[in-house]
Amino acid sequence: MTHNVTLIPGDGIGPEVIRATRRVVEATGVEVNWEEINAGGEALKQYGKLLPDVLIESIKRHQVALKGPITTQVAEGFPSLNVRLRKMFDLYANFRPIKNMPNVPCRFGDIDLIVVRENTEDLYAGLEHEVVPGVVESLKIITERASTRIAEFAFAYARKHGRREVCAVHKASIMKRSDGLFLNCVRIVASQYPDIKYRELIVDNTCMQLVINPQQFDILLLENLYGDIISDLGAGLIGGLGLVPGANIGVQGAIFEAVHGSAPDIAGKGIANPTAVMLSSALMLEHLGELDAGRRLRSAIEHVYSEGKHITRDLGGAATTQEFTEGVLKQLETV
Ligand code: NAD
Repeated sequence: MTHNVTLIPGDGIGPEVIRATRRVVEATGVEVNWEEINAGGEALKQYGKLLPDVLIESIKRHQVALKGPITTQVAEGFPSLNVRLRKMFDLYANFRPIKNMPNVPCRFGDIDLIVVRENTEDLYAGLEHEVVPGVVESLKIITERASTRIAEFAFAYARKHGRREVCAVHKASIMKRSDGLFLNCVRIVASQYPDIKYRELIVDNTCMQLVINPQQFDILLLENLYGDIISDLGAGLIGGLGLVPGANIGVQGAIFEAVHGSAPDIAGKGIANPTAVMLSSALMLEHLGELDAGRRLRSAIEHVYSEGKHITRDLGGAATTQEFTEGVLKQLETV
């Protein structure tokens, strides 16, 4: 069976890591018909729009996309296209498994945790306005519907995949109404899953606990902003952003992308670590029902790390993006 997938190269290191990933996905033997359409600055040049209609139509049609990172300007410019895409397709669940790779030195020990982040609301609603000069209001939106469905996603995943615990992370001590509503919704869902342990932790304490004893955590369930921040902290625990994949999942579609951004500091140098996007593509293959290919790709990547000959610079090696990719392709021939 051939799968139709929208391919969004993104910018910065995006095109480099997406190109590498496309090669390894094709080497699994799964037939993919890629429809490549960009978003962002490149799309603006080509189509006159940051999010061109052809791209939106393509995602609607195929319901699966693999995406490179897209740069967002700081404190000015257009709203984040990444956030817009997630909201447009109601991709409410952001799923980010954080697990260390063999041979990557990790002072925090073995880590295997999952961040489940609400992906459509919170302070990412983008509702900001100037009340009077010198005073800006930014609205944090938390709804019963979004909080309940992200909690259902986390608990259902835990049960299906034999995970032991869900920990809801909050700051309801201060945001008693908004984070309070989030917690109340999660508690109701938790009561329907007596087989999964449930606990709650305040976000600042969670940060400290994560660097002191990360092994205590299994699935972290968070609102949008806390989830964004904790994901990067989690990436730091295992060696960096080059390693953490992600999936944005909704009822009508899914967009797979790494946690990392466009990394302008290393863009165009051919040294970006493509692992995170490759692992995102393994999640995509599993989503497409290609379980064996997803498993083989993950295993090939792990073998490259075990072998230790093609480690990229972000993790202390000297391999280029291409050398790492060649390593994965070679392993795919054997696994
Ligand atoms: P970043 O993730 O791009 O980079 C942070 C650091 O990690 C940099 O030092 C970078 O070199 C390193 N890094 C990231 N990915 C790497 C990889 N694959 N291999 C090796 N090193 C890697 O974060 P930033 O610098 O804060 O953001 C840059 C831009 O990306 C911003 O415009 C931001 O808005 C955007 N961004 C986009 C997404 C997305 O498209 N989903 C996500 C996060 C950030």
